[in-house]
Amino acid sequence: MPGFIDTHVHAAPLFDTTAPADGFAPLLAQGITTVILGGDGFASCCSGGASLTTDYFRGIDGPVPEELSRAGVAEYLKWLDGRGPINAGVLVPANTLRSRFAGSAGRPLNAEEVDEMVDALRSALDDGALGLGTGLEYPPGTASTFAELEALNRSLADAGAVHASHARGYGAVIQQGVSELVALGAATGARQHIAHLRAQAAAAGRLLAEAEALDVPLTFDSYPYQAGSTLLTLPIVPVEIAVRGTDVILDWARTSDEVTLLERAGAAVELYRLASHALEHDEFGQELGHVAARRGVGLAQLVRDLIVNSRGAVTVVVPADPRAESEEDYVQLLHAQGHMTCSDGIYLGDHPHPRGWGAFARVLSRHVRERGDLSIEDAAVHLSRRAADTFSVPDRGVLTVGSIADIAIVDLERVTDRATYSSPRVLADGVDRVIVAGNDVWRDGQVVSRTGGRALRRQGVVDA
Ligand SMILES: [Zn+2]
Repeated sequence: MPGFIDTHVHAAPLFDTTAPADGFAPLLAQGITTVILGGDGFASCCSGGASLTTDYFRGIDGPVPEELSRAGVAEYLKWLDGRGPINAGVLVPANTLRSRFAGSAGRPLNAEEVDEMVDALRSALDDGALGLGTGLEYPPGTASTFAELEALNRSLADAGAVHASHARGYGAVIQQGVSELVALGAATGARQHIAHLRAQAAAAGRLLAEAEALDVPLTFDSYPYQAGSTLLTLPIVPVEIAVRGTDVILDWARTSDEVTLLERAGAAVELYRLASHALEHDEFGQELGHVAARRGVGLAQLVRDLIVNSRGAVTVVVPADPRAESEEDYVQLLHAQGHMTCSDGIYLGDHPHPRGWGAFARVLSRHVRERGDLSIEDAAVHLSRRAADTFSVPDRGVLTVGSIADIAIVDLERVTDRATYSSPRVLADGVDRVIVAGNDVWRDGQVVSRTGGRALRRQGVVDA
């Protein structure tokens, strides 16, 4: 099959040369040959030295390597080139970029700041960025106005590049999140892409139909699991606090009373499972309610301790909410025109979500072989070609004469995701060989080349 393209994945820390060489094994064991970085509005480039947002997101994307602290897209692409066995493309990270012009301001940008941001986006697109990544549920993207996003989207439309967005809301508030993207597409003509869409199929289907009626090109990615995973601070810390940076978040956690700490997320917090920053190894993967009981503290005190001791970097697996989305919703949306697959994998922490180890293999095993939801030909489109088209990835996503030989050799009888919520760090089985640009990078369960991957520049942009 054409090598798979993961359109939303937190793989940045794997490219750090101090990371172990087999760090890419979870992706290669599933046949992934290309990742798109810069999702959720954060990346290791483009901060201009302002560390506010990258610090906020380091529990997911890792710390920014010292040599990239002032890098733009051009420098980041150079840094990524040949640094891993797989290819990487970069979206301009809107949240990171915004902090460079507006610091920790949790307010709309003024006209001058919008102009500066638009200029920075334009030059990053000229340098080969694949599009713009926004994170409208994360600070400081939460403060972005429609007018600000509209100005940025006009530049994307001019360049023919995509706006890929972690929308303002999912699940029960999917309407609010996706309507904004549809309106942006209608106002500017820019292509819109919803990151990790999770919602009831009927509600999401209505929004997709609305986009189609308005002629707005709208695509989305999703992963075949119903539980989610994110920073614990996201559902706990009020946005007006989170936007002001780690020190303010820690002060808030230290000084807030129990009612305030649990006010936003409510009793659901009890069922979150600890993915990183446990005190003892056997706390990993346990529900916070259990961890609190074991430590002999209340839930609010545990939340406070976790946030303070991790300096805001603690992550959790958030259990499935059957009222919000079921497997049948996932399957119905799999058949929508604009669907492609992402893992949203997070590779930090002792007990992460299994999606980074199994999402692509699970589509093949559960949804192609077991349930027959997709044919194998359709799967090649959903796992590779549609992503190459949407993100303007040059010469990949198909196996034709003249395209670049990124290939996953998959045993369709055997391919299986083996990572589970209780044992997440287990490699998938059934992909015996992976080739990137004609060279073997994965064979018989081993990473055989560390340097075969390339930095991918948007189609039409020449390597400077
Ligand atoms: Zn996201």
